[in-house]
Order: sequence, then structure tokens, then C-alpha cells
Amino acid sequence: MSFQHEQTPSAISDRPRAQVLIIGAGINGIATFRDLALQGVDVVLVEKNDYVSGASSASSHMIHGGVRYLENGEFRLVKESVEERNSLLKIAPHYVKPLQTTIPIFSAFSGVMAAPLRFLTHKQGAKHVERGALLIKIGMMIYDAFSRDGGTVPRHEFKGRTKALAALPMLNPGLKYTATYYDAAMHDPERLALDVLRDGLEAGPHARAANYVEAAGMNDTGVLLRNTITGEEFRFEADVVVNTSGPWTDLTNEVLGQPSTFMGGTKGSHVVLDNPELLAATGGREIFFEHEDGRIVLIYPLKGRVLVGTTDLEHDMTQPIRCTEEEIDYFFDLVAHVFPTVTVNRSHIVFRFAGVRPLPRHDDEAPGFVSRDYRIESRPLPRTGAANGTLLSLVGGKWTTFRALAENLSTDILKLLGLPRTVSTEGLAIGGGRDWPATEAATLVWVTAHGDEVGVDRAAALLARYGTRASEVIDFLADPAGAPDAPLAHNAAYTRREIEFLASTEGVVRLLDVLLRRTSMAFVGDVTTPLIEELTLVVAPVLGWDAGRRAEEIELTRRILSDVHGVELGPVSHNNALVS
Ligand SMILES: Cc1cc2nc3c(=O)[nH]c(=O)nc-3n(C[C@H](O)[C@H](O)[C@H](O)COP(=O)(O)OP(=O)(O)OC[C@H]3O[C@@H](n4cnc5c(N)ncnc54)[C@H](O)[C@@H]3O)c2cc1C
Repeated sequence: MSFQHEQTPSAISDRPRAQVLIIGAGINGIATFRDLALQGVDVVLVEKNDYVSGASSASSHMIHGGVRYLENGEFRLVKESVEERNSLLKIAPHYVKPLQTTIPIFSAFSGVMAAPLRFLTHKQGAKHVERGALLIKIGMMIYDAFSRDGGTVPRHEFKGRTKALAALPMLNPGLKYTATYYDAAMHDPERLALDVLRDGLEAGPHARAANYVEAAGMNDTGVLLRNTITGEEFRFEADVVVNTSGPWTDLTNEVLGQPSTFMGGTKGSHVVLDNPELLAATGGREIFFEHEDGRIVLIYPLKGRVLVGTTDLEHDMTQPIRCTEEEIDYFFDLVAHVFPTVTVNRSHIVFRFAGVRPLPRHDDEAPGFVSRDYRIESRPLPRTGAANGTLLSLVGGKWTTFRALAENLSTDILKLLGLPRTVSTEGLAIGGGRDWPATEAATLVWVTAHGDEVGVDRAAALLARYGTRASEVIDFLADPAGAPDAPLAHNAAYTRREIEFLASTEGVVRLLDVLLRRTSMAFVGDVTTPLIEELTLVVAPVLGWDAGRRAEEIELTRRILSDVHGVELGPVSHNNALVS
């Protein structure tokens, strides 16, 4: 089922009123939208850019308990995170998978005394002392204790140097131990968020959402919403306005005439490397460790590439969010620290990205130790067009805890509206995780049952890509009324009809939405100029793009890929149908 109709700006401007208006469609706005939609609340979600294009597109792709937050004393958050991780492995098994994680440890005792002191002070510039084996062992034991829920993930294991190097021979031979434990990985955060969004939209016409619509002001007739593509503006009334604009929360409140100083986001960057030697060195595990400056960093195999990150730098939200050359030098340095014999250089980078964590304002506290927990700020709002309006602002909120956070936030909203909770999202399967074939035998049955029209190999590939929602994709591909299907000439992993399906059912507005968020073509470094040109021609008839718009999309795509993601492409061809 398509969610196209309820997700256009006109679906919102045609009926410019709802009980709840949510501003910002990162994972937390989207999950809150889903929760409220399932309760039958009249709710609207708007996003100034594409869905999941802010902090939620810049994560380390981990669904994790946050073992390192234990030293910050954030036991509530770690417990909730571990519970949510275990739950997501069950309710979103198509996108959330167990992740074996190894920590190389270079000293036995360092940090045991320093950690509690750090918990008390955490000031910028505090002297760094490496976390030693004993401290990590204590952390792992607490982590295991939180993980006890019927054995979702195995317990941690410590190895001495000889056994550690036998398992991962490319590791720095100067290490003393390794600790290995399990967290979870989400290979496709953007697709997981789109599934959460779809669950909300499918609850009924009372749930409406639109990307490329921003909150641009507020007066006594309501919130001013603006279509960021056409510039069209309209007023919107709501009883409760919810600001889930992540690191932009203060800027959004400012625009609404409700200035706040809640936020103090820090920037983190990543690079994606195409480096088979490094990929092999990881042994398929995430290598999670403390770099020489005390930051916890990671090297992590993903989609046949290696993700390396991340940094933690103060950031002014009015400035561009970019991965800098200095950060790249830092990444190469950390790889050399753990895998000293593996060669890594700039020619291996296929994609880079950066985002700002929506952290609370933290004054002189060092960025790495700022609380990762979330809170909800409430203030009366006499100016939404309705009596007794309220503005709720979300401060913080990780990817891992999105379901629990949304439940808490929407419980507050239900109270304000005087409505009961009728549905719990706890244990409720998400999107293509519904009826997931969990065993090899069940997968074979699914693939065989759906392989008639597209072949079993393609059915298996689509199941891996979309979960059980692949059945809708297969129906679309096999529709006799549609054009004949064929692999894309410049990326055979996708077909023309599959791209048409995404463009016609998933709220695609720009070509970049396809490359960055409906597929992972850009992430793995598969984008070329001929691919962009081909995709533009496939998408154009679906979205009604004329020659001028096609040329505009190609130019914008090339510019953003270069400026934001460091992807330099060959020249555009001038002899095809693109600009005719
Ligand atoms: C480097 C890095 C690594 C991370 N790694 C992890 C990890 O491994 N695991 C984990 O659990 N978490 C991780 N996080 C944290 C996690 O990604 C974020 O906390 C989470 O995605 C925040 O989601 P959000 O919905 O609150 O904010 P966002 O995703 O930023 O969404 C806010 C949205 O609001 C929109 N918006 C802003 N202003 C307006 C307006 N006026 N009108 C309409 N829309 C507006 C923005 O465009 C944006 O899309 C990481 C974060 C970073 C930056």
C-alpha cells in the first residue's frame, strides 16, 4: 500500500488543523507520529527537508545499550537502551541484526580510579587516562546483567593477548586483552525510519505527513508552514505543537517566537571506506575502542565497506555540518592505532557524512561526557489558534531508544488532550518486520512462495532489502499493466520498476532522496554521473519532471554529493534526453 496521498503538502493545507502538529521528521518525530496515529489521534508531521535527513541520517548505525554511558552513571538510559535493543532485534529483525563487538584493551588497570572522578567532574580539558581492562570488565558485567531477558544476545567474553591475536591477527600486537560482546547494528537506518512512518500513515487518514514543509513562524492564527520547494505558505492550527527538530530545536523555537536555550549539540563525522584489507581485518566485527585522546571510536564492516568514526566537536547550528579534512586525518590515525599494518588513505573513501547530536546544553562539560538521556520541556502556548495550546520540545534522544521515547512523549501528549492510550507499541512489529521468516526454512518458504514472478534469487534480495514488505514491491514489479522491467544499466542491483516503486510510493521529492535515503547507492559509493542521469529519466515520468527540473535535480545532486559527502563525479553528458 502506498502512503503517497496522506504525505503531500496539499493533504495538510487542504485541512489546516489537527490535534497535534509534530515539527521535524527524524526518527523521534516519526516514531511519535506513529505512536499517536495508532491511538487514533488527528496528527500531522512536517519536515523541512527529506524524512530522516538530519541527525538520524548521520549515526554510527548502532542500536546499542551504550556500554560507555555506564561511566557517566547513566544507568536508567543504559537499561532502557539494552531493553529497546533486545526488543528491536525482535520487532524490526529485517533491519536490526546482532553485532559482534570487540574492544582491544592496552592496559590492565588504568582508568579504574579515574572513571568515578571523571563522573564527578567531566570538565573540558580533564586529563585523559585510558580505560583499563578491569574497568571494562566491570562495565561488561553490568551490561550483561541488563541484557538478561531470555538470551537475546550472548554474554561478553574476555581473551588474553595470544587468543585475541589468533582470532583477529591484524590487531595491534601491543594489546593486552580483548573484550567481546554483542550489541546490534542497523544497516539501513533511513529505511527503518520510513517503515515506522508508513506504520503511522497506514493507521488512517487522521495521520498525515509531508516532507519539504517547514515551520516558519507562529502568530495567533496558528503555525506558519512553508513548502520549501514551491515557497507556498499556509497557517496551521493545533492544540499541541511538538518540536522534535533534534539539534535545530532551539532554532525552531526561535522561529516560533518561543526562544529557548535547551540544546548544545556536538558534531560527529564518519567516512565509508572501500578497503578489502581493512574489511578482512575486522573479521566481520565492530572494533570499538578508546583512541589515544580518550574518545570512543569505531571501525565497523557494513555493506561490504568499512565505516570509521566518529568525532565529538562543539558545533554552531547556523554553520554547515561537514566532515573536515582534520577529522579524516584523525580517522586514519585511529585505524593505524588498531590495525598498524593495514594501509588506509583518501583514495579508499567512497562517502563521508556528518551530523550533530541533539544533546542538551552542557556549558563546560566535555562533549564525550554530556548526558545522552532525553527530556521533554513543556510550555503553555496561547497562540496556536486554539485555547490552552501547549508547546512540547524534545531535548535529546538517541536512535536506539526511539520507540520508548515516542511512547513517553505521546503519553504526555495524550494527557494534554485528555485521551487514553489504546495501543502499546511495545512488542509491536515494525513495517517489513511483520511476519518475518526467522529461520532458514521459513525464509526458503517465503522466497519460494514469492519467487514465481521475479525468481527466487531476486525475491531473496528484495526480502533482505525491504523485509516482508518486499511482497508489495514484487506485486508492483509483476503488475502486467506496468512497463517491462530491466536492471538499471548503471547499477544492476536495482531495476527500473523498483525505482519507480520507490518514487511513486515513498514520498520522493528530489533525486537525492533516492540516492541517499530510499537506497544506499551513495553510501556504498555506487553513484556515477551516468547512474544519476539514468535515474533522473526513470523518476521523471513518475514525478512529472520536465526537462528544466531534470537538469536542476542533476545539478543539485552533484553539488550536494560533492560539498557534503566528498563524492566527485565525472562530467554530465549533453547528448541525451535529459535536457531535450
Ligand atoms: C555522529 C553521530 C553518531 C551517532 N550514533 C548513534 C548510534 O550509533 N546509535 C544511536 O542510537 N544514536 C546515535 N546517534 C544519535 C542519533 O542519531 C540522534 O540522537 C537521533 O537520530 C536524533 O533524532 P531526532 O529525530 O531527534 O533528530 P533529527 O534526526 O535531527 O531530526 C530532526 C529533524 O527536524 C527537521 N527540522 C529542523 N527544523 C525544522 C523546521 N523548522 N521545520 C520542519 N522540520 C525541521 C530537520 O530537518 C531534521 O530532519 C548519533 C548521532 C550522531 C550525530
